[in-house]
Amino acid sequence: MKETMTLLTQSDHPIRATAQPSEPDANYEAPSALENNLEEIQPTRWPVVISTVLLHLAPLLALNPAWFNWNAIGVAVFLYWITIGLGISMGFHRMAAHRSFTVPKPIEYFLVMCGTLAGQGSVLGWVGYHRMHHLYTDESKDPHDSNRGFWWSHLSWFMHDVPDEAERLRLTKDVAGDRFYQFCHKYHTLLQVALGVVLYAWGGMPFVVWGVFVRLIVGFHSTFCVNSVCHMFGYRSHNTKDTSTNNWWVALLTFGEGWHNNHHAVQSSARFGWNWWELDMVWMTISLLEKLGLATKVKTKRI
Ligand SMILES: [Zn+2]
Ligand SMILES: [Zn+2]
Repeated sequence: MKETMTLLTQSDHPIRATAQPSEPDANYEAPSALENNLEEIQPTRWPVVISTVLLHLAPLLALNPAWFNWNAIGVAVFLYWITIGLGISMGFHRMAAHRSFTVPKPIEYFLVMCGTLAGQGSVLGWVGYHRMHHLYTDESKDPHDSNRGFWWSHLSWFMHDVPDEAERLRLTKDVAGDRFYQFCHKYHTLLQVALGVVLYAWGGMPFVVWGVFVRLIVGFHSTFCVNSVCHMFGYRSHNTKDTSTNNWWVALLTFGEGWHNNHHAVQSSARFGWNWWELDMVWMTISLLEKLGLATKVKTKRI
């Protein structure tokens, strides 16, 4: 495929640009905005709304100077890499959701545990919603359909019931039977609490505030930006049928996930960064494991 690189702006957004003004129809009665919203938005998940608000308030504890020290910052940065880089980007996404490489079971389960500690819900939910995103990208059955706006695709979507829960279950049959995945699915909140207890015992409140609350929120929004920013802002190397973009700063925050247009072009590839400037630290990690003989069946197809 001939590579094209274009900067995507609101005016030439491939889907939004399709709306054209037309002649008014005298007999047409437009539905109110409220009616449209009621039709489109699924019921609210209030427990998720409340926990999300509380989790966004908790990092304010970091403003207390008594709970700041550089060791706590170091723990937060290390856990951010472990949970987002190894857990979400490498484990949940490229390994569990796309099966773009295979590792021995102990490493697979380590990556799944790391992703579970990112606090982004259960591995089975994450994998299912992500597979739905690829199957129905930018359509109404896409859980974070970017046509519903930035905030919907960023975080509002998971505060509502997903369009088709039965579809999610159907799409996760290959991983749903695994006992360890089931354990992480069932106890993901308790595992986060257990990590907090360990951090408290190790370094007191500074380790909890920075290593759990601040680290979780930064990790949330970095990952959410892949669904929102990377379907609106950036450049497109491939003319995919969706709105996906490559975005350098999201890639830096997520260890390579921001090369999202490349990913949508070849979803099965373990490598997302294809140009020399497209730094992809997750790919570098997978490549290292492959050289050590620990990662096999590594898919690197490029178009
Ligand atoms: Zn996408
Ligand atoms: Zn994907």
